[in-house]
Amino acid sequence: MESLYEEVASLLVKQKQCVALTGAGISLESGIPTFREKGGLWEKYDPMVYASIDVFRKDPSKYWSLRDYFIKDYDKYQPNKAHYALKDLEDMGIVRCVITQNIDGLHKKAGSKNVVEIHGSIREIYCTKCGKEYEAPHIPDGIPPYCLCGGVLKPNTILFGEELPQDALLKARNESMSCKTMLLVGTSAIVYPAASLPNTAKQNGAKIVEINIEEAFSDADYFIKEKAGTALPKIVEEIRIIDKH
Ligand SMILES: [Zn+2]
Repeated sequence: MESLYEEVASLLVKQKQCVALTGAGISLESGIPTFREKGGLWEKYDPMVYASIDVFRKDPSKYWSLRDYFIKDYDKYQPNKAHYALKDLEDMGIVRCVITQNIDGLHKKAGSKNVVEIHGSIREIYCTKCGKEYEAPHIPDGIPPYCLCGGVLKPNTILFGEELPQDALLKARNESMSCKTMLLVGTSAIVYPAASLPNTAKQNGAKIVEINIEEAFSDADYFIKEKAGTALPKIVEEIRIIDKH
């Protein structure tokens, strides 16, 4: 009898063309707190005041008064085993794209090349006037920080009330539509548009493998009830065994 890991590994090797959809659960293992949950940042600071696009346009110092949470603290977080396993799967020619709801930039930091950050990335900061790009945490001091040209800097993340980047969304939809397998990792996939992607994949014939502590997607073909940092390296290991034969 094949174990669940062996089954999933054979599936991935057979189908390839895999897209991974990741969420807060994978970042949690790097110690990154989720802002929305109990005890999170948004319980202390009203996001409609501190992180809404309307307020940012009027008074960017509100948002930037939390810069230590967003910028300084973020730089100490490192990718974990799950991020590296997805990078390995990309190197093996199995995962062709990682779509993430996370803004921490850890997939890119781990070395994944084809990453779609549908909510943007906190590591990328740009000038709202001249467009010059800065990489966090290397930005000028100040609340708010200004570019040399005098423009206010803004993180390349989606603030409340701001539209999602259309190019990233389109790419995420296309990838989901044409993949043969989808790995759902550490995401409850209840927030749109990410929530629609597993259904899109499934409707177009992809097999869904969910790796979560609690089952969130009722239509998965395989469910691995485990932490991503434990499950994904095991899958990589099983694939290496298959490749040896
Ligand atoms: Zn500028």
